[in-house]
Amino acid sequence: MSIRLRLTIWYSAVLLLGLAAFGAGMWFVLSHRMMGVIEANLAERVGGLRTVIELEGTAKASHLRQELWEFTREVPEGALMQVRDARGRELLATTGLPLLPAASDSVALGYRTTLWEGHAYRILSRRIQAGDTTFDVVAAASLDGTEAILAEFRKFLFLMIPLVLATASLGGDWISRRALSPVDEITRTAQSISVRSLSMRLPVPPTGDELQRMSETWNAVLERLEATVNRIRQFTADASHELRTPIALIRATADLALQRKRSTEDYQKALANIRDEAERMTELVESLLALARSDANGLVLPRAAVDVNGIVRDVISSNLALAESQGVVLSTDLAEFLPPVIGNAAALRRLLLSLVDNAIKYTPANGHVAVRTSTTANEVLLTVEDTGSGIEPEALPHIFERFYRADTTRSFGSGAGLGLSIAQAIAEAHGSIITVESSAAVGSRFHLSLRAD
Ligand code: ADP
Repeated sequence: MSIRLRLTIWYSAVLLLGLAAFGAGMWFVLSHRMMGVIEANLAERVGGLRTVIELEGTAKASHLRQELWEFTREVPEGALMQVRDARGRELLATTGLPLLPAASDSVALGYRTTLWEGHAYRILSRRIQAGDTTFDVVAAASLDGTEAILAEFRKFLFLMIPLVLATASLGGDWISRRALSPVDEITRTAQSISVRSLSMRLPVPPTGDELQRMSETWNAVLERLEATVNRIRQFTADASHELRTPIALIRATADLALQRKRSTEDYQKALANIRDEAERMTELVESLLALARSDANGLVLPRAAVDVNGIVRDVISSNLALAESQGVVLSTDLAEFLPPVIGNAAALRRLLLSLVDNAIKYTPANGHVAVRTSTTANEVLLTVEDTGSGIEPEALPHIFERFYRADTTRSFGSGAGLGLSIAQAIAEAHGSIITVESSAAVGSRFHLSLRAD
C-alpha cells in the first residue's frame, strides 16, 4: 500500500470521526436547547394556571372554569392545557388536546414525552393545592416543529458530511501525490545508478523540505562513494603498473640468460638480479596489502607501551651504513626522559624507517639527517629533519598520496611512492597525523606527535 493511499485513508478516517463527533455534538446541543425552550414555555403556562388556581381555587367550579378559560386566551394559540379537580371533573381542556392521563393515574409528575395519533408531545403535569382541594394541571406542547427542524438538520448533516469528506479526501490525495511525486523520480534515478555511473546525481526538488534534504544527503553520499571508488580504481591501476616493471625485468633477465649457453657466473648474476627484483615485488605487494588492510577496516594494531627513543636508536643503527655510503651524516637528539606511548612498536618502527629512508634518499652527499625526540605535558614529539633537496610547494599537499612521487627524475631510490602513505596510515591508526615543512633551500622536516601514556 503506497504512502499516499495510507495517508489519504488515515486522513479521511480522522476527518470522518471529527465530522461525526461535530455533527452529533451539534445535534445534541440543538435538541437539548429546543427542548429547554419548550419546557420553559410549559413551566410558564403551568405557573400561570397555578396563579389562577391559587387565587380562585376555593371559589365555585363554574367561576374557576371561567377564570381558567380567560387565562387560556392570554397565552398564544395552540397552547394545550388541561385542569381537573380531585374528583376528576374537567375544569379546562383546550381543543386539540388529547385526553391526557391525570397525574394521579400513576403517572409521574413532571415532564414526559408522549405519542398521540402519530405526533409527539412534551407534557408537564403538576398537582396544585388550593385550600382543601387539589387540582391536576397538565400543559402540553407539540414537538412537531422541533422534530421538523431536527429532521432538516439531520438531512443537512447526512448531505454535508459525505460532501466535505469527499472533497477533503480528494484534496488530501492531490496534495500527497504532489508532495510525493519527487520520490518516484528519485527512485527511478537511484535505480539507474551503478558503480559505472557513480557520477550521476539524484534530482533535488527545490521544496526546502525533508525530500530536498534527503536528496542532498544522498548526493553527498554518492559524492564520497564516487571519490572512494575513483581512488580504488586509481590504486588498482597504479598497483598493476608498478608490478609490471619488476615482472618485465624478471622475464627479460630470464629470457636473456636462456638465449644461449652461459657461464655459471652469468647464470648466478642473472639469478641474483631475478632475486632482487622478486624482493622488490615482495616489498611492493606487502605495502599494497598493508594499505588494503588499512582501507578495509582501518589499521587494527595490537597496542602496548612503546619506548620511542628505543625505536629511534634501532632505526638509526640499521641505517647508519646506508647513510655513510651516501656521504650523509645521521645524528640523533633524544629527550633524556621520554614517557612511553601506547602504540604498536613494529608499525611505529616502519613509520620512522620510511621517514629516515626518505631523508637519506633525498639528501645529497655531505648533507645531514637528524632525528629528534622531545616531550610536552602529554605528548611525545618525533621529528625527522634533513638538509636535502626539499619538496616543491605544489608537490607538498600530495606526498602522502599513494603512488605519488614528486619528481621521478630526481628520485634516487627505488620507492613506489607508497612509503609516506603507509606511514600516514600508521600515524592515523595512532590517532595522530604526520605534518611536513619543506623548502628547497633548507631541506625537509617531518613531524609526528603521539599521545603519551
Ligand atoms: P617514495 O617511495 O617515492 O619515496 P614516498 O611516499 O616515501 O615515496 O614519498 C613520496 C614523495 O615525497 C617522494 O617521491 C619524494 O618526492 C617526496 N619526499 C618524501 N620525503 C622527502 C624528503 N625527505 N625530501 C624530499 N622529498 C621527499
